[in-house]
Amino acid sequence: MNVSEPGSDQVVDVVGIGFGPSNLALAVALGEGGRKASEKPVTSVFFERKERFTWHGGMLIDGATMQISFLKDLVTLRDPRSPYTFLHYLHQVGRLPDFINHKLLFPSRIEFHDYLCWVAESFDHQVRYGADVVDVRPVHSDGAVNHLDVVVRHEGPEGERISVQRTRNVVVGTGLEAHMPAGAAPGDRVWHTSELLHKVAALKEEPRRIVVVGAGQSAAEATEYLHRRFEAAEICPVFTRYGYSPADDSPFANRIFDPLAVDDYYAATPEVKRMLLGYHRNTNYSVVDAELIDELYRRVYQEKVQGRHRLKVFNASRLAEVKAGAEGVQVTVESVISRCRTVLDADCVVYATGYRPTDVRRLIGGMAGLCKADEMGRLHADRDYRVVTEGDVHCGIYLQGATEHSHGISSSLLSNTAVRAGEIADSIVAGVVGATASE
Ligand SMILES: Cc1cc2nc3c(=O)[nH]c(=O)nc-3n(C[C@H](O)[C@H](O)[C@H](O)COP(=O)(O)OP(=O)(O)OC[C@H]3O[C@@H](n4cnc5c(N)ncnc54)[C@H](O)[C@@H]3O)c2cc1C
Repeated sequence: MNVSEPGSDQVVDVVGIGFGPSNLALAVALGEGGRKASEKPVTSVFFERKERFTWHGGMLIDGATMQISFLKDLVTLRDPRSPYTFLHYLHQVGRLPDFINHKLLFPSRIEFHDYLCWVAESFDHQVRYGADVVDVRPVHSDGAVNHLDVVVRHEGPEGERISVQRTRNVVVGTGLEAHMPAGAAPGDRVWHTSELLHKVAALKEEPRRIVVVGAGQSAAEATEYLHRRFEAAEICPVFTRYGYSPADDSPFANRIFDPLAVDDYYAATPEVKRMLLGYHRNTNYSVVDAELIDELYRRVYQEKVQGRHRLKVFNASRLAEVKAGAEGVQVTVESVISRCRTVLDADCVVYATGYRPTDVRRLIGGMAGLCKADEMGRLHADRDYRVVTEGDVHCGIYLQGATEHSHGISSSLLSNTAVRAGEIADSIVAGVVGATASE
């Protein structure tokens, strides 16, 4: 391993903000593609606000599967010889022949999570968990910015503590934030799907009715899970579409996630970018795996046959009012066609209303003024994901995610993580080597 652990007062080459799959892939790539053994190793440290490595823990639903092939793991597309492939993981845990017999391309989310944890374990020494990055400040010297100070808040048994880590490069891998519609206030009875399993585990009594808002993959998964989990409860999905729409995972459309598609998208004009994103939104947004749609339909039909109507779909409908109280939530559902209203007394409402990228400019607060952004506040990043800066700035800020507008639809997904992390690692290493050579 060619990455060393920094001392607390040491200037490091790389600080990774967030330690989800993107920056985990970066940790691997830095280790594998870092400088040759004879050179000074690239130093790096990652700050993660969670207490330990987890990946969408609230949605680790038994039976949910990955939306990507296991071959799109953290490394294979960059280097299939890496010891961190999904296949090597299977070999290590003694399941390789069983997995092959299973003939699976899309493993369960629980198994992929276990794979990610297995990789993350090897990088424990480089990660500070329970560490929330609250600012990134430029360090000025003689009019130039050669370093960044990353300000970190740590919560511990003795209370809050702030530390500062000086670095030459920052890689922002903070992922997406749960999104609730305006006016929806999360609480004991009003949840976002990102918390689903945790909230279900905390329920004090069996629910009688749950409303699920949305028609995307998470909405369909939550509906399927809650219907299966609570055998006596009525589950009421509410969405404005007429029906769930299938995800396009056909081979030609799937090319939009290929590493080469990033070059194409990056080179395209803004009009062409918008057009391509529009054509292929249904590979990822507001769509559901066809098998899951079939399963939900099968259940609705079976209940019709049996005369026990428990999965009640309110299609072409929206929530007109939600009143949460101590005993339950009163939900008024309105048909967008007839304007007819139905009042449901529910135990909980689950919002499957998606995610938004974290506001990187807010995160890097002190440094944001030196970074170029468009009129919508989105940061400009070069092809190597390095943010374009203004003035005499010699340190790098790289983005993992938050580049859909410039690098395409795979930016916040796993499909291209291995290659993207490799490209960022190469760019950082080239910069670090260049800086050392000129010192
Ligand atoms: C339920 C679910 C299933 C999905 N399945 C797939 C799939 O099958 N295939 C696919 O391609 N994509 C999938 N996605 C999309 C998802 O975005 C990617 O899977 C993946 O999580 C992206 O990794 P990431 O590391 O960029 O972001 P994240 O996984 O979101 O990780 C970001 C990390 O940064 C941490 N963080 C945030 N802010 C700070 C801060 N200020 N300081 C310190 N730490 C911070 C967070 O705690 C988090 O651990 C899924 C998304 C969801 C919600």
